Amino acid sequence: MDSFSPLIARLLPSDLRPIYAKVSEGVRLDENEAVFLLQHKDINALGTLANIPRERKNGNVATYIRNLYVNYSNHCILSCQFCAFSAKKRDPHAFELSIEQIAAKVKVGLGQGITEVHMVGGLHPTLPAAWYIELLQTLRALDPNLFLKAFTAIEIRHLADRIFKKPLLETLSLLKEAGLGALTGGGAEIFDQGVRDRICRGKETAPEWLEVHEAWHGMGMRSTATMLFGHVETLAQRVEHLRLLRDLHDRTAGFTAFIPFAFVPETTDLAHIPPTTAADELRTLAVSRLYLDNFDHITAYWISFGLPLASLALNYGVDDLHGTIMEEKIFHMAGAKTPQAQSEKAFEKAIREAGRDPVPRDTWYRRLAPSPQAERPAEPQVNP
Ligand code: SF4
Repeated sequence: MDSFSPLIARLLPSDLRPIYAKVSEGVRLDENEAVFLLQHKDINALGTLANIPRERKNGNVATYIRNLYVNYSNHCILSCQFCAFSAKKRDPHAFELSIEQIAAKVKVGLGQGITEVHMVGGLHPTLPAAWYIELLQTLRALDPNLFLKAFTAIEIRHLADRIFKKPLLETLSLLKEAGLGALTGGGAEIFDQGVRDRICRGKETAPEWLEVHEAWHGMGMRSTATMLFGHVETLAQRVEHLRLLRDLHDRTAGFTAFIPFAFVPETTDLAHIPPTTAADELRTLAVSRLYLDNFDHITAYWISFGLPLASLALNYGVDDLHGTIMEEKIFHMAGAKTPQAQSEKAFEKAIREAGRDPVPRDTWYRRLAPSPQAERPAEPQVNP
């Protein structure tokens, strides 16, 4: 698709013009170009470039989802250095919810109009396979239309290898049959093994993460892809992470969206690492949009960026602001200062202020009608 404009080309810095020509003609960028863009100082020019595929794919629409986060437990057999969420059984901050407690939270969420439950936990050492099946079946029975998005690829491997003790495909089939509707994208971090050894030693490898998503997509199902950036990785390692996702999505077309997270160091073992900057976050979102040409959606995760920056990012390639969430633990235990929930009204306002049109979506990013709770903006007053 050719959207080349000589005027825009003239306004861009000269070193971005060849990339502008490629982007406007829908030609795929390579890894060297993505690294070059991640180093570029002119973030507004990157936003101009990233808005080309953003608007080609999604017009002026920006979406969000009415969802509820549930962390069923933070007991975990691993101790990733970047994680402040996990706990051993006797730690004072350890917790484990019963199925009844989780169902009670979900009932409250359903009363508030949620369409999705997003549920992850640590790699629990002892909860049996039957507990996970019963959990999904119980939530499914509360509302057959409620989308159950749950478990990272890392949890899935843990369940298959240590809890269900069944092959990966069979474990995924059992979970799907019990009501699992989509996998979450967590656990990807940065795929480079050297980086993983420094921030999450002992965690599953990139090929293992990718294999879970490929198997799930092969069952006709969808998932999201993530990246935790802004710690010890180089820009080339960031781009290599994107390349592996783009390659898998070329094979399966199974990812609904890409969701990068900025690392929050404060209470983690990596607290000495300075936090990312707003410029780096906008640059990473814009370059993700430009490089991942086969992904339909780029989400700015407001829990990690804050809603004001996520809203700004709607003009830097982003077309989705994630969800209402209601109760976030993982980033907040690491020191995030953002709120733990957003109202639909807040999303609508943030999206309109960015000049975009807000539309609620479902788990698979299909557009939905706004709920009655969403407050419409007042009609503009016409001065006599
Ligand atoms: S990131 Fe996940 S796997 Fe690693 S320690 Fe935290 S909960 Fe466990």
